[in-house]
Amino acid sequence: MRKIAADIIFPIHTQPLTNHVLVLEDDGTVADILPITELDNASIEKVSGALVPGFVNAHCHLELSHLKSKFPEKTGLPQFLSLVTQQRNVPIEIINEAMEMAEKEMITNGIVAVGDISNNSNSFYVKAKRNLYYHTFIELIAFDPARANGAMQNGEQLLSEARGYGIHASLAPHATYSVSPDLIKSINASCYANGKPTSIHMLESNDENEFYIQASGLYRKLYRELGVDIKHFNPTGKTALESLLPYFNKEVPTLLVHNTIATSWDAEWAEDIHPNLFWCFCPKANLFIEDRLPDIPMLMQHVQYIAVGTDSLASNHGLSVLTEIQTIQHQFPELPTSDLLRWATQYGAKALGINNQYGTFEKGKKPGVNVLTGITSTQTNLADTVISRLV
Ligand SMILES: [Zn+2]
Repeated sequence: MRKIAADIIFPIHTQPLTNHVLVLEDDGTVADILPITELDNASIEKVSGALVPGFVNAHCHLELSHLKSKFPEKTGLPQFLSLVTQQRNVPIEIINEAMEMAEKEMITNGIVAVGDISNNSNSFYVKAKRNLYYHTFIELIAFDPARANGAMQNGEQLLSEARGYGIHASLAPHATYSVSPDLIKSINASCYANGKPTSIHMLESNDENEFYIQASGLYRKLYRELGVDIKHFNPTGKTALESLLPYFNKEVPTLLVHNTIATSWDAEWAEDIHPNLFWCFCPKANLFIEDRLPDIPMLMQHVQYIAVGTDSLASNHGLSVLTEIQTIQHQFPELPTSDLLRWATQYGAKALGINNQYGTFEKGKKPGVNVLTGITSTQTNLADTVISRLV
């Protein structure tokens, strides 16, 4: 047994507690949270700061870790995608080394579980070591509906390869501008049948809506550059979200990633038609690529669940969920730390379907324990806190 007292404990599923002790089994399972007066003082380990459950990084691309510091910042998404596509062919040893370093960084930064996008099987061997919990989203790209079946076959093959490694995985459409309604329907049928979540990059820039509303703008240019045929595409006259969300299965937990340009109307409309949405913010990547952030204080008024991701090292300087929520609070100081911590733990775990084990200090869970220095009952601002991993 380990009995840990701190200035404040954030169990997440209940209000923060002072003068309490987190009691853990030897294997890190939460046994209880008890008032400090009920325990023998000599048996208590005292740490300074706040205790919070392990962080869930709801959106990452481990396989892009070797692209750290390779791209210029603030280019806008279409230009960024064009650069990433040109940089994919790198010797596997370099990719492997970068993924292992990235994983170590996440562990140091108190991350216990990751929703990770994979376009290939490069990351599977790292994930099979189970140093972290991974849910792999096997990402499919096929804008032409005639290519949807082929994309599904590749996806199913990668899924069975993932199962061979003992990895948790499901299929996910890449982004609104790179999939068809047919492909979204097939992917959702697969996720529903397997009881697994899905994910999609959503509303990252105005170019995305411009393309759906009138088939113009930078995406049209990108497709020309990449030689992608878009003759089949009829603009819908609606936003990208409104055009595609109806093809998702309402029973399937769905991460909408980025939402940089989402409006209050988008959020309310989407919540009305889909009860299992998780709005995932990756603020550091948004600043890196688009140099803007979603209107998070507005969106949190309209949506039920928010999660936090780091995106990849191609568009971020590090992989730290704490840095992401510090960035949010720096920009929007009115956002309470307890909300930010809930997004970074409980809701990320719920999105990945692992809230029976991660995300809160509830009895029987094994969520990992982080210490945030400098956080007390009277000083909860995250600005200067430093994380260390206790369990
Ligand atoms: Zn991403």
